Amino acid sequence: MLFDPLATALDPQRLAESEARFEGRIVLAADRLAALVEKTPADAWVRLVFDRGPWDCPRVRGEVQAEVICACQRCREPFPYTLESRWELVFATSDEQVRILGEEGLDCHHEPGPLDMAAMIEDELMLALPMAPHHEPACMPWVQTDEAPHPFAALKGLFARDGHDK
Ligand SMILES: [Zn+2]
Repeated sequence: MLFDPLATALDPQRLAESEARFEGRIVLAADRLAALVEKTPADAWVRLVFDRGPWDCPRVRGEVQAEVICACQRCREPFPYTLESRWELVFATSDEQVRILGEEGLDCHHEPGPLDMAAMIEDELMLALPMAPHHEPACMPWVQTDEAPHPFAALKGLFARDGHDK
């Protein structure tokens, strides 16, 4: 069964039962991502596959790819950066399942109510952002730190002169 990942009130149980899947481009609002980059993607490519995973729990396996514009942390110039993420999430039905699945190293979700798939995709894109994005291969640094004068260099000269005068 095909489904719309941007639909509201998505039910992981039903999506898993019908082995729902989606592959294609979607347009995200991405307000939280916008605060971290120069320009958010016009759209993102996603693949989402629901099925029954461990302990017969609903599971989603996702992939997302989107191009954002980041400010280079070295030269300050904006440049395109492709964010990519793959994830697997199991929808646990109890705290006990969350504990067991967590011990097995699986990412779990245990929140009653409808699923916000757009928010989940945006979370994945934010996690895929590097700490300090920069051009590859390396660009010229914006500030030549080894040539910059020490901020107290002028003061040091002043104190030295005062001492000499006395
Ligand atoms: Zn750069």
